[in-house]
Amino acid sequence: MKRYFIHTFGCQMNVNDSLRMGEVLGKLDYRPTPVAEEADLIILNTCSIREKAEDKMLSALGRYRTVKLSRGTLLGVGGCVAQQEKDRLLKKVPYLDFVFGPDSIARLPEILQRVQDERERVVETAWVDSEEYVFPRADPETSRGKVTEFVTVMKGCDNVCSFCVVPHTRGREVSRAFPEVLGEVADLTRVGVREVTLIGQNVNSYRGGISFAQLLLRTAEVPGIERVRFTTSHPHDLSDELIEAFRLQPKIAPHFHLPVQSGSDPVLKRMRRDYTIEQYLERLEKLREARPGIAVTTDIIVGFPGETEEDFALTLALTEKVRYENQFSFIYSPRPKTGAALREKDWGAVPHEVKIERLERLQKMQRRISAEITSALVGQEVEVLVEGASRYNPLKRFGRTPENRTVNFDGDAPAGAMVKVLVEHTTPNQLSGKQTAMLMEPMVVPPPEVERPEFPQIVA
Ligand code: SF4
Repeated sequence: MKRYFIHTFGCQMNVNDSLRMGEVLGKLDYRPTPVAEEADLIILNTCSIREKAEDKMLSALGRYRTVKLSRGTLLGVGGCVAQQEKDRLLKKVPYLDFVFGPDSIARLPEILQRVQDERERVVETAWVDSEEYVFPRADPETSRGKVTEFVTVMKGCDNVCSFCVVPHTRGREVSRAFPEVLGEVADLTRVGVREVTLIGQNVNSYRGGISFAQLLLRTAEVPGIERVRFTTSHPHDLSDELIEAFRLQPKIAPHFHLPVQSGSDPVLKRMRRDYTIEQYLERLEKLREARPGIAVTTDIIVGFPGETEEDFALTLALTEKVRYENQFSFIYSPRPKTGAALREKDWGAVPHEVKIERLERLQKMQRRISAEITSALVGQEVEVLVEGASRYNPLKRFGRTPENRTVNFDGDAPAGAMVKVLVEHTTPNQLSGKQTAMLMEPMVVPPPEVERPEFPQIVA
């Protein structure tokens, strides 16, 4: 029995792609192994969103070289660095067997055949035409036992934010036909999934036969589904129709991840984000009016070329004004072939130590705000969809609120149940407490036709 090991880097899109790779390999009689040293095939599914991500890939490749030397394991690189570097990666890493882009997952059988039978070192990074692109259909058995799952609804991005490598590594936007999406969601409910997160690099520009707002409403109507989430969005696609969907359908979870990237209009202009802070705040205000109490999170880049102390002060002021539930903030990292990397000299690179100092100030402010938001919940009861045992303490249960707040609690509710939890303690990003009521029993799920091995994933 041949065994494979997939090391996944980066975003949820990559995690989902790795699941699909596992399903393709399963049809070639490969079985997963959680131990790289036991694998006959190792695939690194890579991320190139920041320089650090690429360095992580190279050091992992160094580790797997010894496995290759000791047992002749095949070594391949997929994902965004593969798409970005193409055959340069084969030159850079002489012991690598193949490189394949995100559009070539379905071609893995042919790629492996060429590597094994024809002893070729293969590079497969061609884009598939939008009309011909077929989204891999998830095998629901891969998600058996999970309460929440991610469903890919589109790939690529037609925006050209000047700092972003995604349009170069994921190609143009292709939306998945809505019957396909709804079919996969229905399949997932049959193995016990109660919550789905619709994913794409820019989901709210979805055009798979119906609008994104309609897709959310239809997904919420699939029997068995209790909560619908999605990520990632672009502010200029936050339509009135989408806002209205939040007003109409309580199963659309009251959490919106809306990356703003900076609080300064001149910086947003150089980032090519195509909105102003005034426009961003107008959309946010309308969303909060439609769904009071909605949790809002965002992404922020600190130290973008040309960012002055005054620009950064506007980012701090925006953070204070919006009071985000949480932020994912990073220092600017120049990416190959992006507009900002090419213009960095003209706009003026921000010194590394200044970037770090600003990032620390921003994260300190956000931690205070997150702590104020969560501590205000002490003594209140919150609704929790139970996902299983707590990672921190197996004696406790774990789940999340509709606002996507993580909760560890004393109780006995099984995975898939909906319960009330009395909040007793909080940290900026976590709640803890005790179960006080059962709101909904878990679904009764029929056993699988055939037993399947676990699909282990290393996510870095
Ligand atoms: S919208 Fe997002 S994925 Fe698309 S180019 Fe901008 S930052 Fe990148």
